[in-house]
Amino acid sequence: MAEPTELLALARTFGDTVLERWERLVSLETPSADAGRAAVFGKELAAGLAATADRIEHPTGPGGDHLVAYWNGRGTPSPSADDGPRTGHTLLVAHSDTVFEAGTIARRPFTLAEDGDTVTGPGVFDMKGSLVAVELAMDLLSRTGAAPRRPVRLVVVNDEEIGSPDGARLVARHAEGAHAVLGLEPPLPGGALKIGRRGVARVRLSVRGVSAHAGLDAALGVSAIDELVDQLASLRATAASLPDAALNVGTITGGTRANVVADHAEAEIGLRYATPETEQALLKAVLEPTPVRERAALSTRTLSHRPAWAMDPANPLAAELVALADTLGLELPLGSSGGAGDTNLTGALGIPTVDGLGPAGAGAHGEDEHASLSSLLERAALLAAFLESH
Ligand SMILES: [Zn+2]
Repeated sequence: MAEPTELLALARTFGDTVLERWERLVSLETPSADAGRAAVFGKELAAGLAATADRIEHPTGPGGDHLVAYWNGRGTPSPSADDGPRTGHTLLVAHSDTVFEAGTIARRPFTLAEDGDTVTGPGVFDMKGSLVAVELAMDLLSRTGAAPRRPVRLVVVNDEEIGSPDGARLVARHAEGAHAVLGLEPPLPGGALKIGRRGVARVRLSVRGVSAHAGLDAALGVSAIDELVDQLASLRATAASLPDAALNVGTITGGTRANVVADHAEAEIGLRYATPETEQALLKAVLEPTPVRERAALSTRTLSHRPAWAMDPANPLAAELVALADTLGLELPLGSSGGAGDTNLTGALGIPTVDGLGPAGAGAHGEDEHASLSSLLERAALLAAFLESH
């Protein structure tokens, strides 16, 4: 057994080690879908986790190695009515890729600010710092002679920033039978945990019309562009009528020239929705459009889809984490996120899920991305204390 306060005090002695490790992981750049760099990073991450993990796997995907690490629990907890179906492992969900192109590090190297706490560099916040926090959490347990109460699995996918086209299947597989899912994404402003995330989908809507001379034979033609514009206006009205729905027409193309009735047009549409009900209504409207013009042909293709994880203010897992943070003297606010991630899947499946457990910071995906060293140490202690006691 390790007291949470003991874990926190110990974590706070690891500032220098953490900075060194953090710099190392940030320096190994990992743009999404770069198989070579993902493999190098996976090897480095595995080397760090190997100090405590019982087993490490490198399942491959199109973008290179993903990583799954396993830690044994102290034993099967004695079955009790309170446990209900929550008898499985604790799943930690993370990603290794960043939105930054290779070479960014040369321009914007890993830097510790003069305040001795603020760290900058590509991916410090989203989410290399979170990976360092997991390594430290497991190290804290091992150094205090403690172990996780339940088996722990860490899934690190390499394609989260492009919608986890392959990683989602890995998260789904390892979520099966999980007792709880902790997402290591960066927290909301102020370090708040995420207990709900809007779902996101991208859909391509294509229209086929009939081309004709715009002056002489306009009546023979069917304008794909006019049809598309009408469809988009109608979809915009549908989105506006639904609670917590957002629609963004991201791209639009079509036609050839001003004196030709356009025979093709298409748009890529981004959708966001906070609840399963809105998700269903919005997707139905977009995926099953009815042509306004009889001779126009419409087709749709779903390019990516993450389900809505509706926020439950009474999320019991979040309540446990807040109580635990309280014993450490840490404040842990809760909120819901406008962006989606891999925990949308587990939250939507009804598995107790909390995200945003990475260290506090701001500026994800931007030039001023930064994160807090002291927060990383606190999050590592919180994570260790949670795994030890839950
Ligand atoms: Zn992220």
